[in-house]
Amino acid sequence: MIPSAFTFYKPDSIEKAVSIMKDFGDEARVIAGGHSLIPVMKQRLTDIKHLIDLSAIEELKGINISGKSITIGAMTTQVELITNENLFKTAPVIREASLQIADPQVRNLGTIGGNVANGDPANDMPGLMQLLDATYKLSGTNGLREVKAREFYDGAYFTAREDDEILISISFDAPIGGYAYEKQKRKIGDYATAAAGVILNVDNGVCSSASIALTNLSDTPVYCDEAVSMLTGKNIDDNLLSQATKSCVEQSDPVADQRGPVEFKKYVAGIVINKALKRAFERS
Ligand SMILES: Cc1cc2nc3c(=O)[nH]c(=O)nc-3n(C[C@H](O)[C@H](O)[C@H](O)COP(=O)(O)OP(=O)(O)OC[C@H]3O[C@@H](n4cnc5c(N)ncnc54)[C@H](O)[C@@H]3O)c2cc1C
Repeated sequence: MIPSAFTFYKPDSIEKAVSIMKDFGDEARVIAGGHSLIPVMKQRLTDIKHLIDLSAIEELKGINISGKSITIGAMTTQVELITNENLFKTAPVIREASLQIADPQVRNLGTIGGNVANGDPANDMPGLMQLLDATYKLSGTNGLREVKAREFYDGAYFTAREDDEILISISFDAPIGGYAYEKQKRKIGDYATAAAGVILNVDNGVCSSASIALTNLSDTPVYCDEAVSMLTGKNIDDNLLSQATKSCVEQSDPVADQRGPVEFKKYVAGIVINKALKRAFERS
């Protein structure tokens, strides 16, 4: 199918893009890489009258690393996340997760901003950003504001972003410790049946800090705060990692769909979470 008719805009500044969004409210939508938006437009699952292309706004692009502080522009593509060596040195879990998104064609155009702003529970970056305790910077008619990734997702496709706001950038501190992003999918290029990101900081066998987040195991990413508390300050061994895995699975809330029934998804979740915990521990 082809999308219904729309007016196309290509502003060269954030201010101009926000002003178009203000004029047209929920009839306007920004487009980044288009890999999530164009399919739903073509299927006419959404009817957008005013489409605002963000690709000419230079301020939205690039990766800035200053000491331990990392800021990624919303229009940075997934392939840039994979190929940036400084990003790999400071936050290697981003490359590990990005390489598991879709296929090279999608990653060449798909952006980090589109992936996190979309609100699709199957997108990998929202869970990854919760793992990293990232902060999203948004610009709208009321100016700039920041929202933590762990507070951004209200439900499937519902986020804290207002209709007139554009996601500008994503910031987080370089993670410390071992890391892993494990994903089970039906075939190459598919979304996750279940995925888990883990960061574990371990000194002399004792976990000084931990972070665990899940993808596609609820209608929002799941931050596993109970398992994090269970691990922090403890001596890590296989038994404790199994208990943490069980706690994460209990916190998940998947729904049955074409990827399988709830019991199967919880079973797969247990496997990817435990693998991610063990690999992060080995790397710590
Ligand atoms: C075959 C296929 C397989 C895929 N597999 C995966 C996968 O395994 N894992 C995964 O995570 N993703 C997957 N994707 C999705 C892909 O990563 C998308 O590129 C991504 O979800 C959206 O990024 P985009 O830049 O294409 O955004 P777009 O499609 O342009 O936009 C998506 C939504 O976000 C909004 N938006 C975009 N940028 C901004 C911004 N800066 N501020 C505010 N709102 C914004 C748009 O208005 C739209 O509602 C797949 C896509 C395809 C086609």
